[in-house]
Amino acid sequence: MSILNKNWSALSKPKTTLNYIHGQFKESKTKTYHQVRDPSTDQLITSTPESTDAEFNEAIESSKDGYQFWKNTSLLSRQRVMLNFQQEIRNNANDLAITITQEQGKTFSDAHGDVFRGLQVVDYASSIPTTFMGKMLEVSNNMDTFTRKFPLGVCAMIAPNNFPSMIPNWVISLAAVTGNSLILKPSERDPTASLLLAELAQKSGLPPGVLNIINGTHPIVNHLTSHPDIKAVSFVGGDNAGKHVYKRATENGKRVQVNMGAKNHGIILPDANKDHALNSIISAAFGAAGQRCMALSVAVLVGDARNWKNDLINKAKALKVGNGFDQSNDMGPVISKQSKQRIENLINQSSKQGANIDLNGTNFEVKNYENGYFVGPTIISIPHTEFDIYKQEIFGPVLVILETETLDQAIDLINKNKYGNGASIFTESGSAARFFEINAEPGQIGINTPLPVPLPFFSWSGNKASFAGENSFYGEQGINFFTQTKTVTSMWKPSDQTTSLEKASLSMTYKF
Ligand code: NAD
Repeated sequence: MSILNKNWSALSKPKTTLNYIHGQFKESKTKTYHQVRDPSTDQLITSTPESTDAEFNEAIESSKDGYQFWKNTSLLSRQRVMLNFQQEIRNNANDLAITITQEQGKTFSDAHGDVFRGLQVVDYASSIPTTFMGKMLEVSNNMDTFTRKFPLGVCAMIAPNNFPSMIPNWVISLAAVTGNSLILKPSERDPTASLLLAELAQKSGLPPGVLNIINGTHPIVNHLTSHPDIKAVSFVGGDNAGKHVYKRATENGKRVQVNMGAKNHGIILPDANKDHALNSIISAAFGAAGQRCMALSVAVLVGDARNWKNDLINKAKALKVGNGFDQSNDMGPVISKQSKQRIENLINQSSKQGANIDLNGTNFEVKNYENGYFVGPTIISIPHTEFDIYKQEIFGPVLVILETETLDQAIDLINKNKYGNGASIFTESGSAARFFEINAEPGQIGINTPLPVPLPFFSWSGNKASFAGENSFYGEQGINFFTQTKTVTSMWKPSDQTTSLEKASLSMTYKF
C-alpha cells in the first residue's frame, strides 16, 4: 500500500525534503533540519530544512521573474494549465494519499478526501473565464464603465499540517490562475504532498517561478510576512502563529487572509433522527483523529436527547484505531508526540477539575504500533464551560458533552464561544433549524450535516476568532483576494459631436 506508483523527482533525496525553486528540486544548504516522523510508528521518514536566507532570496527573485512572465499570459492559457493540473492530480491521487497517510497519519480513505477536496478548488480555478468576468455598463451616451481584474504580484502561503494537499491547493490554483506567482511554505511536519503538487503543476505546464516552495518554520514565516516584494499572505493554522502572521503582514502593508483555530458545536434536539445525528457527531468528532478545524468537538444534548449519551459513548467505543493504511481502521494517530502529550494533559487536567471522563483514550496502545502517537476516542461530560478542555481547541479525538434544557440555551453557549468556524444542528423541525441558522453566530452552519464546509463555488466563511482578514479562501472571495479590481471609464464620441467652440467646464460632471 505504501509503495509509490511513480518515481518522483521531488523525492530524489529520500531522507531530505527538497525545496522547489525556479522549476528545480534542490537540496538546502542549511545545517538545521526538522524531523518528519511517521505518527503511527515514530520512524524517521524525512527531514525538513530550515532554508537559508540566501535560498529565500532565490525564491523571491524567481517569483518576481515568474510573475513578470505569467501575468502576461492569456487567461485561456492559464486555464489550460489548470485543466492539465486537474488531470495530473486525479491520476496521481493515490501517491498523494500515500504520503499524507505516512506523514500526517490520517486513514488512507481520509487522505483521499484531503486530495479530492483540494482538487475541487482546482476544478473551480479551471472555470476562470466565467468567474473572472467583469461588469460593464454604458453609463452615458458614448461612455462605458467596466471592471477589470489584475493580479497582485508575488504572493505567499503558510500551510498547516492537517490537510497537506487540500489547503495548499486552496491557494496554489487560485493564485496561479489569476496571474500571480506564489511562494508556498508547507508545514514542516508533512511537506511532501506540497512537493508532489509542485511536480504535477510543473508537468501541467506551470512555468518556473510561478510556484516556489521554500521549507522552514518561524524564520521563513517572518521573511514571508515582511519582504517588500510580497503583496499578499495566505495563512491557515493555529491561533498563535495566525495572530503573529496577521499582525506582521498587515503592519508591512500586505493583503492578508488568516484562518485560525476553532471550537465547533453540534446541537442534538430530541426530535432528531437519532442514528443519523449520533453517527454524524461521531464522524465529525473523531474523523482525522479530531484534527480538523471543522471537527465537532462539543456535542450539546438538548432536553430528552440527554438520554442518548450512552449510545454516543458506545458508538465511540466501537471505533477501531490504528495505522491509517489498514483499511479496517476508522482513526489514525495524532500528528506528533507533543500533540499526544498535550491532549492527554488536557484530559487528565479536566478530570482533576471535576469533569466526568465517560470514555478515556489516554495511554492508548495499538498492537504492533506501540511507538505510535495514538490517543483513543475520548468523551468528557462537563457541567459548565469553565474547563480548559472546553475553552481551548483540543485538536485531538476528544468530544466534550454539554447538556441544556432548551435550544436557546444551546445557541447561547455557541455564541459565547470566541470562535466562529462552524456549528451544526440535528433536528426534524424546520422552524428550529431556521431559528438556529439565523441566531447561531458561526460562519458555517450545518443542518443535519456535521461538517458544513462549503464547496469551492462558495467561499470559506469562518468568522469571529477563527478568521482575520477581509476576503476569505476560494470561491468569489478567493478570486477577489488574489486580484486588484480596476474600473475603466471610456468615452468614444463620434468626431462630428465635438466642436472647437466647446469650452472646458470646471464643474464636477453630474449629468450623464
Ligand atoms: P500551526 O499554527 O502549528 O502551524 C501552521 C503554520 O504556521 C506552519 O507552517 C508552521 O510552520 C507555522 N508556525 C507555527 N508556529 C509559528 C510561529 N509561532 N510563528 C510563525 N510561524 C509559525 O498549526 P498546525 O498545528 O499545523 O495546524 C493546526 C491548526 O490549524 C489548528 O489550530 C487548526 O484549527 C488550524 N486550522 C484551521 C483551519 C481553518 O480553516 N480555520 C484549517 C486547518 C487548520
